[in-house]
Amino acid sequence: MSNVNAILKKAKVSGDLSREEIAALLSITNETMLQKLYDTAYAVKAEFVGRVAYFRGLIECSNFCIKDCYYCGIRRSNQNVERFQMDEEEIFKEAMWAHEAEYGSCVIQSGERQDEAYIAMIERVVRRIAAASGGTMGITLSLGEQTEEVYRRWKDAGAHRYLLRIETTNPELYAKIHPADHSMEVRKACLESLRRTGYQVGTGVMMGLPGQTMEDLADDILFLKAIDIDMVGMGPYIPHSDTPMGQEIPAYTDAEKSAALQLGLKMIAVTRIVLRDINIAAATALQALEYTGREQGLKCGANVIMPNLTETEFRPKYQLYDNKPCTDENSAMCRGCLSGRIKGIGETIGFNERGDSLHYRKRVGE
Ligand code: SAH
Ligand code: SF4
Repeated sequence: MSNVNAILKKAKVSGDLSREEIAALLSITNETMLQKLYDTAYAVKAEFVGRVAYFRGLIECSNFCIKDCYYCGIRRSNQNVERFQMDEEEIFKEAMWAHEAEYGSCVIQSGERQDEAYIAMIERVVRRIAAASGGTMGITLSLGEQTEEVYRRWKDAGAHRYLLRIETTNPELYAKIHPADHSMEVRKACLESLRRTGYQVGTGVMMGLPGQTMEDLADDILFLKAIDIDMVGMGPYIPHSDTPMGQEIPAYTDAEKSAALQLGLKMIAVTRIVLRDINIAAATALQALEYTGREQGLKCGANVIMPNLTETEFRPKYQLYDNKPCTDENSAMCRGCLSGRIKGIGETIGFNERGDSLHYRKRVGE
């Protein structure tokens, strides 16, 4: 424990922690030490990015996917999903809702599609959103693996940021949770393409995967640092009953839920400590484990929240994992209840601000 105290003391002044030190922080279970870890991460957050939460309105525009990740509820082979695809007008309308609700940014996310019709539709809608918001609105895309050419087209149309999780940096674990034709090397190459294309680049991992160790997670954090990432979106793995992994390990018990939430919060805290000035999202998956999970994420070092804008009608169909929260609520309800809860923890909300990653701004010399 004194070792952990010494690491936390060091963490206040420097994020330069070793793999062993990171794994030691992630292994904390004692309540007092946990609180110290969270407080240290919060102090680092307050110093480097401030006590402001930025909203990104999340538009889950399609659940069609050409991939077959073993953990994901909308994987191609899941026959129990009713597939939907929003049209350009619907996506645009939701982005404008976010703009009028004073969210500074939106995120367009979907299953992966690489066909020209889809690529061109995204390009058109990004261009429309950029024009209608006078270029003020931050536009984030999370649309999977694409060619550098496609990333460039979307960037030229007006997108600013891109989220593509590496999921895990342990090659054996990656191979266990994906079919053989899904490649970590391709994903890394995509992250490099995104970087070359000029995006603010975000990635992240799932934690609590079967067989994943604290050392694996320490390596994940060091990977984020090594590739000099601008934004991190990561969350606990939650089983979905219609997936190969969900069938092997069934739904979490209450104790498993608490453990998964705790690990999620620890990862946010340690990532904040190591990476200092990046943007970190408090994933919706945290809220699936406990209603106030995302606010707890803010208290542990996250500074971005992605309220769901997806039409209530589509929400139950975009179930990446079981018990996804708020599937019967609409966007206005999300805005109201989230804002109240965030103010309740003493933070301000960056309404009408894009909330770009400070790390990115420093990196490009803004
Ligand atoms: N298709 C795109 C974006 C949608 S999936 C992509 O894969 O990048 C977005 C994220 O959902 C994935 O990166 C994955 O980390 C997460 N996800 C999928 N299934 C999950 C599960 N069962 N539990 C927790 N997160 C999950
Ligand atoms: Fe498709 Fe993304 Fe789910 Fe994988 S995680 S199956 S790419 S939606």
